[in-house]
Amino acid sequence: MRVVNINTGERIDSDYGLTQREAKKRLEKHGYNELIRREKMSPFKIFLSQFGDFMTWVLMAATAISGFMGEKADAVTILIIIVLNAVLGFIQEYKTERSLEALKELAAPTAKVIRDGKLITIKARELVIGDIIELEAGDRIPADCVLIKGDDVNADESILTGESIPVEKKIFKGIEFPSGENMLYMGCSIVRGRGRARVIAVGMNTEMGKIAGMLQNIETGRTPLQNKLDKLGEILVYGCIIICGIVTVTGIIRGEDAYKMFLIGVSLAVAAIPEGLPAIVTVSLALGVQRMMKRNALVRKLPAVETLGCTNVICSDKTGTLTQNKMTVKKIYIVDRNCDVTGDGYSTKGDIICNGSRVNVRNIKELRMLIEASVICNNSSIPEEDRKVVFIGNSNSQYSGDPTEISLLIMGAKSGIYRGELLRKYRVIKENPFDSERKMMSVLCGYDRRRYLFVKGAPERVLNKCKSYLENGEETSLSSSIRQKITYANNRMAESALRVLAVAYKEMDSSNVNTGEDDLVFLGLVGMIDPPREEVRDSVIECRLAGIIPVMITGDHKLTARAIASELKILDKDGMVITGEELDRMNDSMLEKIIDRARVFARVNPSHKYRIVRALKKNGMVVAMTGDGVNDAPAIKEADIGIAMGISGTDVTKEVSSMILLDDNFATIVSAVREGRVIYDNIRKFLRYLLSCNIGEVLTMFISSFLSLPIPLLPIQILLVNLATDGLPAMALSLEPGEKDVMSRRPRRKDESIFSDGLRAKIILRGSLIGLCTIAAFSMTLVYFEGNLRLSRTVALATLVMSQLFHVFECRSERHSVFKIGFFTNIYLVAAVLSSMILLITIIYIPWLQSIFYTQGLNLLQWGIVLAFSGTISLISSLIWYSK
Ligand code: ATP
Repeated sequence: MRVVNINTGERIDSDYGLTQREAKKRLEKHGYNELIRREKMSPFKIFLSQFGDFMTWVLMAATAISGFMGEKADAVTILIIIVLNAVLGFIQEYKTERSLEALKELAAPTAKVIRDGKLITIKARELVIGDIIELEAGDRIPADCVLIKGDDVNADESILTGESIPVEKKIFKGIEFPSGENMLYMGCSIVRGRGRARVIAVGMNTEMGKIAGMLQNIETGRTPLQNKLDKLGEILVYGCIIICGIVTVTGIIRGEDAYKMFLIGVSLAVAAIPEGLPAIVTVSLALGVQRMMKRNALVRKLPAVETLGCTNVICSDKTGTLTQNKMTVKKIYIVDRNCDVTGDGYSTKGDIICNGSRVNVRNIKELRMLIEASVICNNSSIPEEDRKVVFIGNSNSQYSGDPTEISLLIMGAKSGIYRGELLRKYRVIKENPFDSERKMMSVLCGYDRRRYLFVKGAPERVLNKCKSYLENGEETSLSSSIRQKITYANNRMAESALRVLAVAYKEMDSSNVNTGEDDLVFLGLVGMIDPPREEVRDSVIECRLAGIIPVMITGDHKLTARAIASELKILDKDGMVITGEELDRMNDSMLEKIIDRARVFARVNPSHKYRIVRALKKNGMVVAMTGDGVNDAPAIKEADIGIAMGISGTDVTKEVSSMILLDDNFATIVSAVREGRVIYDNIRKFLRYLLSCNIGEVLTMFISSFLSLPIPLLPIQILLVNLATDGLPAMALSLEPGEKDVMSRRPRRKDESIFSDGLRAKIILRGSLIGLCTIAAFSMTLVYFEGNLRLSRTVALATLVMSQLFHVFECRSERHSVFKIGFFTNIYLVAAVLSSMILLITIIYIPWLQSIFYTQGLNLLQWGIVLAFSGTISLISSLIWYSK
């Protein structure tokens, strides 16, 4: 078919599309098909933004005052510390920006376009005017286009018009001007049918572009935990400012130098406020998202990372997620005859064996008609057949289309019946596409002045529409005993885990106007196997250990679902199987009563999924729910974690989901849950570390000022402690690999405080011990070394830093000691601790640094004091508290 491009007057072959060369030229001329995007933050801007926060301004003011008072060394050192802090902040933020950008790229929308006669998938932004694209139910329309081919194409244009009723589209003939009747608008979605369209406007010239941008992308909004921590940060800021004020004022009252006390106050505030906390939380979430990505889980909404750790029910589709979605027809039933189909997978080697002997299907009319109907009522393609048939779906694979349908083509090929050949005989007039609500599909064909309707679908649906069947090639009325026989055969196949389809047809005079799917002639049943994914069984066991209930939701028959769920250990003797019909008979409160025991939902429609999520949530469950089709979108949106399929999923489901499974695999959900738990654990770990260290620092200064001791740490020293301990070691804690038992605990409650399980007490206790030990080491040196203040301060500084560096190892686990988990299992932490130690030693022993930081070299005895006060508590707590 050739269509006229109304913009240029040229003719474009709708089976060949544009050439790649022409497309490239047009792309250069008209630009990318995108709505104007947010400017990316340049690295320089990110660096500059580090100087924008309140604490940096306070420090800068302190620098200025130091300079003004003539304390050049102080001023320069504080400046260096500001820059070093900014560099650390920049590294964290830049990494986060970059990984989020990379994820956005991956989640970018795609389009199926015909170029050089081949159907390929490209990024939607590379579409150009004149491109011919394929669209089907669930696709987001990637540019403004006109419909040039297709059946029953309905678009949801609510995004543009606010009208939620889908609009049926007509074919554009090429003579009139395109109008709303035949236009498909960018950003809207196809809800029914499939078709081919030609792009007539891209980017900002589309209707959507005119209204202004709304490109769906990864949401990087703040997570509930981030918000909570922001609030905590605020409280800490005020608390610290008050305490620092008290320390400063009491110092001045005691007669200390006001300038010095002011600097101490500022430095203490800077050290005490965990200003790095929000950045580390974001980095750890972003790094977690990257790790999930490596395991094929693409997180679209950052809050999902947190919720994953609370998940206690995973509702999963069966086909493709729990099973391989590699269908192979194994059985055929025609009335009174059971046949086996030999051969495996997508190989076309195999035979049809009926009653023990190989048959030539051309000699058995029922069998031939059944196979012909299965092959023509089909939208997939396999390599053996006529290559001119355009592949639908993934162009890289020679097998394209729905695996259920591919298996029917393979069955056809085994008996010498090919789709290409049939399409030369039958002219397809209209298709009633398959959808999960109807569970049927049919095509109306014309041949030799006759019309044929070929139908396939769920047996009970098709059988209900049949009035006769073929017996010895003759149409015979379908009695109730034959119906029973067919149902019995269906159940036998389903019990052995086969997916069963019934096939039927009807032949009409071309003048007959009743082309509906009724008064059909039953041809037979086809049973196909879809083996479970190998890794799923282990993942199911892992789920159960982790206190998570796996639930199977499928459009398949109850018996098929039961057989597969039992094989995968999803269903045990206490579990219930509930069908869509049973669900329809229950009201919501009945459903809520039994849903906790349900393990399998069979023969359900996507609309049932929504009720299932609602009922589970009502019972206090945190629900992860998978989906692929356009009708799954409401359920995915309602679930706490909506999961879309990366391979088989439609754009619409992907857009409402919080996570996309790039490999459609159930095991990936479980590893994402695991990762979610690890990330949450790690956030608790560095929160524990940062807060107890900061409490230690504040208490050291606070208590000493109340005991009227000399000031144990000078401003520069406080800032140094902050730099040595807050940055790298805390960041390294966010890279903890995850504890072995992370999946043998129950999920945490969604409303659980981040400080639950006694974390608050641990932080306060350990922080107080750090402070007390530092004061003790300081006082002891002061007494023992006859009031040598410089030495005592160096000892206090070393004790404070070393206490924190020991403590960081305790923070690696809340359940086990570091001796149990091993020192070197987080190599980043070892490196961070070593670098902080080197920094400490450098400023203690290098003479010119000594004069800046007011330190002096320590001898063995003095190191003994440092290690005794910093290490003993750590050792004791490691040995006693955790060595269970
Ligand atoms: P799951 O929910 O486990 O992923 P599913 O979504 O594949 O299952 P459906 O696609 O809704 O389930 O299929 C339900 C039933 O519809 C199948 O048991 C089968 O009988 C029938 N069916 C599936 N695919 C087709 C098709 N392409 N054409 C006609 N009937 C089909």
